[in-house]
Amino acid sequence: MLINGNWADANEGTTFDVINPANGEVVGQVPDGDAATAKAAIDAAATAFGSWSKTTAHARSAILYKAWQLMLERKEDLARTMTMEQGKPLRAARTEVQYAADFLLWFAEEAKRTYGETIPSARADQRFIVSHYPVGVVAAITPWNYPVSMITRKVGPALAAGCTVVLKPAEATPLSAIKVFEILAEAGVPDGVINLVTTSNPAPVGEEFVSNPLVRKLTFTGSTAVGKMLAGKAAGNMKRVSCELGGHAPFLVFDDADPVHAAKGVQLVKFLNTGQACISPNRIFVHQSKVDAFVDTLQSRVAGMQAGSGFEEGVTIGPLVDERAVTKVSAQVDDAVAKGAEVVCGGNRLISNGLDKGFFYAPTVLRGVTPDMLIYREETFGPVAPIITFEDDQEALKMANDTSYGLAAYVYTRDISRAMRMFEALEFGIIGVNDINPSAASAPFGGMKDSGLGREGSREGISEYLETKLGGFAI
Ligand code: NAP
Repeated sequence: MLINGNWADANEGTTFDVINPANGEVVGQVPDGDAATAKAAIDAAATAFGSWSKTTAHARSAILYKAWQLMLERKEDLARTMTMEQGKPLRAARTEVQYAADFLLWFAEEAKRTYGETIPSARADQRFIVSHYPVGVVAAITPWNYPVSMITRKVGPALAAGCTVVLKPAEATPLSAIKVFEILAEAGVPDGVINLVTTSNPAPVGEEFVSNPLVRKLTFTGSTAVGKMLAGKAAGNMKRVSCELGGHAPFLVFDDADPVHAAKGVQLVKFLNTGQACISPNRIFVHQSKVDAFVDTLQSRVAGMQAGSGFEEGVTIGPLVDERAVTKVSAQVDDAVAKGAEVVCGGNRLISNGLDKGFFYAPTVLRGVTPDMLIYREETFGPVAPIITFEDDQEALKMANDTSYGLAAYVYTRDISRAMRMFEALEFGIIGVNDINPSAASAPFGGMKDSGLGREGSREGISEYLETKLGGFAI
């Protein structure tokens, strides 16, 4: 753990194991921190805030720029660490490191653009000026599915704004977090400005984050259940809150779309990260007239996927994160089949060729999915593509919006008017129109409804870490 610039063990010297989900092997051990460690880290961050918040934006920018350079230099090492503890294919891990580094560069630039404004007054003797100031100590909690970029998407803007940070990474992926913090420290982030607490018992650390009066903001990425619980407690103590939570993305393929192109898109985005992405399509609505061509293409592309260790050449889909994830995916598929869905391909755990030692589930396509099935409502977070047919636009739109989530949605159509109508009517924070990757450091990422509060990335991302101060001057 990194506390006040020192790499530290847990108080009792306790550690927990890090597991490779492709084969169940222990690949590392990290300190098992607790509430006392979190408190020490918050104290360090509060002390460091005094000087860090006074540094110039240009000085902070230079450090983030250096961190960006270092992250790119260490892309291979970071990617290998990620594949080892998270399981994604090495190529995908490299792409994630690039995406993670993008946030460091973006916020190195945005640090210099936290402009204020002057506002005309109705009084001749009065002037208004508006300035922005860092909110203070930020407590951050990140998930395991994107173990590097979820950190830089929070720590990048926090540092750029002049905040100090205490991060608790996911239990499954602490090694990636440690490497990110090594880079930040080497880039010149001063002692105490960034602090890292690893733990196998997140609740007491989370409790310290939301109750300690020195913490001024909580930023959380993870499940909706945990996010709501933490946000509720943080709000009770009047802390600022940003939450990036779960999703249940609809993917709409209209009758004028090219079903082959759309099916290629679904295959790429649905099975990315073994379906463990918050913007993963979870209900694929295909117009009745296109469904056969769509399913044929999807099926043949899925058949060409190869599951295995992310380090093996040719592997395109890695394991799920743990046994619990396999159980959840299996339960959703079994429920759908029991209620009448057809398994087009997959539908089973993968156990041959040594895969039984890991947490593999076959990439699966289900057809004939209906609203009474669990998969229609619950986030799957696994490699299952559930297909639902529709006949009219309004029916499809109504079904797409019929979810408590509001993170991402996808629309495939060649009709610009229909695309615009859908863009306006879909109740989601991110809409891909004939596009499966509507995400970049420069673009706002976040959701509506149960998918969260606030936005990350883009110029909005830094404002989540800034207070607004108004000066009224009588002259
Ligand atoms: P999770 O169980 O909520 O865990 C997320 C983080 O919260 C982990 O660091 C976890 O620690 C921690 N945590 C769990 N219980 C806690 C508690 N009581 N107090 C404090 N911290 C606690 O979610 P997950 O299963 O890891 O991640 C998957 C979820 O994240 C999905 O729903 C996905 O959609 C969402 N997600 C959203 C976005 C987005 O940008 N909207 C991006 C990625 C993922 P441990 O690891 O020790 O349990």
